[in-house]
Amino acid sequence: METPHILLCPYCGQPTTVFVDTWAGNQDLTEECNACCSAMFVHIKVSEYSVQEVRAEMEGR
Ligand SMILES: [Zn+2]
Repeated sequence: METPHILLCPYCGQPTTVFVDTWAGNQDLTEECNACCSAMFVHIKVSEYSVQEVRAEMEGR
């Protein structure tokens, strides 16, 4: 199931919605910010088919 999750862009601080597939387990995605179009790494922790943690980091670290 895809669950929408709001995270804050590490570059500009604007909220961006990502859709997390809770059946897929832990995931690392690359998302593009809707506001400033920067690419960010998104680390997602899933446990028991619910989202435990979503963390956005600047690309290139
Ligand atoms: Zn941004």
